[in-house]
Amino acid sequence: MTPSIVRTSTAELYDANVLKNYARAPLTLVRGKGTQVWDDAGNSYLDFTSGIAVSALGHCHPHWVAAIQRQAGELIHVSNLYRHPNQGELARRLVQRAGPGRVFFCNSGGEADEAMIKLSRLHGVAKSGQEGKCIKVIAAKNAFHGRMFGGMSATPQEKIQKGFRPLVPGFVFGELNNLQSFADLVDADTAAILVESIQGESGINPCTPEFLRGLRQLCDRHNLLLMLDEVQCGIGRTGKFYAFEHAGVLPDAIAMAKGLGGGFPIGAVWIRDRFTDLFTPGSHGTTFGGTPLACAAGLAVLDVIERESLLETVTKRSGPWIAELTKFTTDFASQVLAVRGRGYLVGIQLASDPAPYVTALRERGLLVVSAGGNVIRVLPPLVATTDELAKSVEIFRAVFEAKRA
Ligand SMILES: *Cc1c(COP(=O)(O)O)cnc(C)c1O
Repeated sequence: MTPSIVRTSTAELYDANVLKNYARAPLTLVRGKGTQVWDDAGNSYLDFTSGIAVSALGHCHPHWVAAIQRQAGELIHVSNLYRHPNQGELARRLVQRAGPGRVFFCNSGGEADEAMIKLSRLHGVAKSGQEGKCIKVIAAKNAFHGRMFGGMSATPQEKIQKGFRPLVPGFVFGELNNLQSFADLVDADTAAILVESIQGESGINPCTPEFLRGLRQLCDRHNLLLMLDEVQCGIGRTGKFYAFEHAGVLPDAIAMAKGLGGGFPIGAVWIRDRFTDLFTPGSHGTTFGGTPLACAAGLAVLDVIERESLLETVTKRSGPWIAELTKFTTDFASQVLAVRGRGYLVGIQLASDPAPYVTALRERGLLVVSAGGNVIRVLPPLVATTDELAKSVEIFRAVFEAKRA
């Protein structure tokens, strides 16, 4: 620490200097270990926010910390002008999980979505033989695809688009899980379909397996790319590595990010083999994408998922936990309307604004995050134990009891 004469609190520093684009909780976190985080007053919390589905291994998993420390002392950045073993190995392992294809690395979910949207433009050019004609992408109502111009244009929500128009043209919107509504939007100028396998931000709305399989057939019939945004639901969160595996479909492109680095920023797009040649040298890129350090973090996440059998663990532990949470819909029927989700990606839909609940849960030591449609999102790290899951149920119960009184 550098000595300072004027001691200013973190809250004051934020107030004076940090852009006010977030409604931030009045909480300063200083340390984390596993599923727990500590604030600057020494209080501990069960972190079932996981940095918005990011800290897949919890905080400071020893294998992940060691991998980052080792790599930081060896080589952190080289740009994509040169190769590095970590990027090659992480690409191999993502291809192994998805299927024959190739991977492009970037730094965030928004960038991964942007690369997929650009892929759809190239596919449109290949399909129609001209630029600017076949640019239509059918996305879903209530979708969230990040805050960049392409992704934001694919996110039909007033609170996200307001003030930023004109948007990128070409996006139209079907009703999630209504295949006919997507089919009705297909025409000769359509290049792709883009959906989240499970919508996260809008309140944990899963695509049914039948719907995803129907989209696959629709895409095959009309030569459209099936592009899945797995930024939030991917990397083990649902008990499968990719959430679409539950439906048994193979998409043409997958966007991933959040959980992939376990807290270190990294994004990636997998593209199916028959479409990988659409990108040619110079057609897309990013300075930082897939650095040795970011890929070391990603490799450590995959190592731990495999070594600790986290996919099996999430599947096994989440069943009874979700069953317990679902009891709230009968025990607190006036407050809890529905419980949705899969694995460690769960939404509790309330009858009213979730904000006071999120605060009350935090005051009792449980961190969760709200989502659209009056939903509380519960996102434990993949390493959460049955005791920690049980503890979360206890805290929820106490808060629902207190609100009923
Ligand atoms: C979070 C999220 C994004 C955006 O990711 P950033 O890393 O915040 O840019 C895109 N799509 C989905 C489904 C997300 O949940």
